[in-house]
Amino acid sequence: MAAASLAGKPRKVIPKILAVIHADGCTGCEACVEVCPVECIYKVPGEEHSSLQTWCDIDLDRCIGCKHCAQVCPWDAIDMVDTLDAAQHVALKGGPPEYVEKHWDDLVDAAQRNAEGLLAKKKK
Ligand code: SF4
Ligand code: SF4
Repeated sequence: MAAASLAGKPRKVIPKILAVIHADGCTGCEACVEVCPVECIYKVPGEEHSSLQTWCDIDLDRCIGCKHCAQVCPWDAIDMVDTLDAAQHVALKGGPPEYVEKHWDDLVDAAQRNAEGLLAKKKK
């Protein structure tokens, strides 16, 4: 099965588009987790009530931009965005007030790193 063969393997190229989950619109239903072929979507526990307030987020260093997650999200909480603009989208993804700030390195810096990697590749 494709999902099993891609899961856990390093990405070969940086995709032109990346998936960004808007935490405020995500219910944590995990429909996206089920279809991601590289298993790069993870559940984020709520800070105050870990089992009640959950949502999902994406490891952008592993996302291959396949759109499967966005196609199945019942709440339209996933946008496919241009990799070059991803950091801006991630910085505005919502969630608890300090969520993005607290995880800036893993979220916004990761998006920016993807953009810079893609740009560097274009210049070659
Ligand atoms: S776009 Fe594809 S690889 Fe990226 S998070 Fe969604 S399902 Fe996973
Ligand atoms: S499918 Fe949509 S609502 Fe469900 S966990 Fe994924 S992003 Fe959140």
